[in-house]
Amino acid sequence: MLQSKLSTKTKREAPKDEMSKNAELLTRGGFIFKEMAGVYSFLPLGLRVLTKINNIIREEMDAIGGQELFLSALQDKSLWEQTNRWSDEVVDIWFKTKLKSGSELGLGFTHEEPLTRIMKDHISSYKDLPTFVYQIQTKFRNEVRARSGLMRGREFLMKDLYSFCKDKEEQENFYEKAKDAYKKIFERVGLGEKTYVTFASGGSFSKYSHEFQTIIPNGEDEIYLCGGCKKVAVNKDIWEEQKKCPECGSELYTEEKSVEVGNIFNLGTKFSESIGLFYKDNEGNSKPVVMGSYGIGPGRVMGTIVEVMCDEKGIVWPESVTPFDVHLIVVGDDEKTKKTADNLYEELKQKKVDVLYDDREASAGQKFADSDLIGIPVRIVVSDKTLKENKFEFKKRNENKFILLNKNELFERFK
Ligand code: ATP
Ligand code: MG
Repeated sequence: MLQSKLSTKTKREAPKDEMSKNAELLTRGGFIFKEMAGVYSFLPLGLRVLTKINNIIREEMDAIGGQELFLSALQDKSLWEQTNRWSDEVVDIWFKTKLKSGSELGLGFTHEEPLTRIMKDHISSYKDLPTFVYQIQTKFRNEVRARSGLMRGREFLMKDLYSFCKDKEEQENFYEKAKDAYKKIFERVGLGEKTYVTFASGGSFSKYSHEFQTIIPNGEDEIYLCGGCKKVAVNKDIWEEQKKCPECGSELYTEEKSVEVGNIFNLGTKFSESIGLFYKDNEGNSKPVVMGSYGIGPGRVMGTIVEVMCDEKGIVWPESVTPFDVHLIVVGDDEKTKKTADNLYEELKQKKVDVLYDDREASAGQKFADSDLIGIPVRIVVSDKTLKENKFEFKKRNENKFILLNKNELFERFK
């Protein structure tokens, strides 16, 4: 894409009301626009990143047998009354609205209820189980505090997967698979090193649910990292009762600030029993379906990547989610230089390299500053100076020095 044609521009100044690094850098880079507190629109660059994150999540959910669907945001009050989750006293983050007739509707903050009801039409026998469905869909939550950019939205995307199983064993088996799939997702988006499987409260059959917590300096959550196996952590609410690693028994010690990027739950039969999702086992007995739910916030993941991977100049995207593979920059307005850069752009495109080409009439300083802010992992500069030697400047965003490469050497890098 030609940068001169990009619909958005960068901003020099951070918006005054944004306190968080992710909102500051993503807004300045032209990735997102704040509509109001906790509500963001995704602009072309931002949507490219979000789509890549979503596709990584999709691949891993498909790999464990998940089937994608898409549920409505508007919610039926009578259904949520069946599980006692309609009342504002029970669920304090509902956004509710009314039809012209006066009947109340809710804007979905999660989807256990509607999906359980849908599956009543499709599950009747043990032969229909297990089955796994997921969506990437907009959720609405009237969060009290929404001050941390993409980390806590009032309108935000969630990938939510739901499992429907015959019994506890089948459910637990899938739960472990989902846990592994989550580990792969966080590795693939570049958060593997800083993300810990964290024991938290709120599961059925075991004492725990599991959160995926990423260590960041301004995280809202607190976790205790295991000093023994160094792989797991315990959430603060569990820590109060459990001062040892549930996995290896060692004394937990490091306290860290973190953000919850994912959460997986064994739900047991809570929803199937209250909504009436039963199946017939192979002896003809009626049994409630055993369920689990598994969430990730792709927007929160994007914000977390920025918080973890940035420097004083801007964002440093990992290759897996970068909006473009290469930022090609032409410096100087000499006819030959321009022509060489134009040709290189075409050739890279032919090699299926996704290039943002800064063809604007702007100073080298401006172009480099924008490039650092936007954070594409590879930068190639074509200038009069480098062309004298028939070479191009090649620099990684996370390295300080560039190297000079001729065209063949350059293409070697994109095999
Ligand atoms: P939190 O404890 O941070 O409020 P939660 O436990 O309510 O989150 P879940 O209901 O488990 O969140 O949602 C699944 C995932 O959706 C979370 O792990 C997170 O990645 C994402 N998520 C939850 N709330 C928000 C939000 N307000 N904005 C953006 N992403 C969110
Ligand atoms: Mg949670």
